[in-house]
Amino acid sequence: MGQVNDFGKNSPIDSKGAGRRNELMILTMLRKHKRLSQTELCRLAQIGSSTASTIVARLRDKGLIVETRGLSDRRGPKPTLLELNPQSLYVIGVEISPSYLYIGLFNFVGGMKDKDRVPLGQDHSPDHVIGLLGRHIAAMIDKNSLESEQVIGSGVTLSGSVAHDGSVSLSSPMGWTDVPLRERLSSLLGFSVLVYNNRVRLLAEFEIQPELASKNILYLNLANGVGSTLYVNGRMMSGATGRYGEIGHIVIDPNGPRCGCGNVGCLEAFISGPSLAGRIKRDFESGRAPVFAPIFAANAQPAPEEVVSLWADAARRGDAYSVSLRDETADRFSGVAALAINCYDPDIIILAGYIALLFPDVFADAIRQKMRTNVYDHLLRDIEITTARAGEDAVIKGLAAAVLQDSLSMAW
Ligand SMILES: [Zn+2]
Repeated sequence: MGQVNDFGKNSPIDSKGAGRRNELMILTMLRKHKRLSQTELCRLAQIGSSTASTIVARLRDKGLIVETRGLSDRRGPKPTLLELNPQSLYVIGVEISPSYLYIGLFNFVGGMKDKDRVPLGQDHSPDHVIGLLGRHIAAMIDKNSLESEQVIGSGVTLSGSVAHDGSVSLSSPMGWTDVPLRERLSSLLGFSVLVYNNRVRLLAEFEIQPELASKNILYLNLANGVGSTLYVNGRMMSGATGRYGEIGHIVIDPNGPRCGCGNVGCLEAFISGPSLAGRIKRDFESGRAPVFAPIFAANAQPAPEEVVSLWADAARRGDAYSVSLRDETADRFSGVAALAINCYDPDIIILAGYIALLFPDVFADAIRQKMRTNVYDHLLRDIEITTARAGEDAVIKGLAAAVLQDSLSMAW
């Protein structure tokens, strides 16, 4: 995902018929390095200057790259630098969640050009969601006056398991099983659609904090689903089937509530956004959580984000019910975090997702406490605990980074 291709590694690639691969390699180099002189390009790509000139001229004629005058301290002519033309090609990133669809339009260098947050009501059926997405994406392309061939691909993600063919095997937050999402969306939209695990959000953190790329990261996401991502030795772990890191489906209480995955007592059935909102609603109805009257009086089915936001406010004001639920949630979460620390030995933990970010300090303290009793050799570990910084656009920005490279490889 988002890996730079290894073209040119084996032999010079200036043979006939390799033209498009040469183009792709140069576009990939420019994506990675942003701005290069033709001399630098030849050195990095290991191609001769006449080959480079031919490809560069072709890409310039197609409008995909532009030349700019570089800055130089030396006297004489300024070097000509090559860079991607941001306005030539676009990609779309889509996050599907039970509460909303979040659509972002990104230019060729990953800059966000437009975004649209579409509230999703109670109807989570694949037909409804895919139809709604199709209409909003078409409207966005239209509104930004783009030709449809300028959009080279779309990356879509949701909480759940995605098979290699882009079908969703299971998304418990959406209530989906075996939905051929990639196939249905690409035939609706007319351009390539790639379905990613929502781990791509970690790529957006690297844009903001590039120093993370040298760490062993355990990324804990606590939102509508509960999951983890592992990044070790410069690579994101992928697993045999993409189903690793499913900390949300660790059974913490065999007598607990049924989880969307079909098992009973998973962590996710206790502390995901929808689980917490459901619990709060039941406690409100039985009179144990009167502080939530304003939200349930206004709307019988408020989005989990709204319910938990009121919960966080009430906990900060010292409401006893809310404080107790916060501490219980932090305790359950930190128990599973300790398991993951034992398994993966990270040097940094990133707390992410709207539930974790309601009380990041409480969750971080709970993990530190739990390490003392539940983690092997805890004194020999030095784990920094920090929070995700990419904000609500993290997922679609991470998608843009992944899909820009992957769509290019597919389109060329
Ligand atoms: Zn489960």
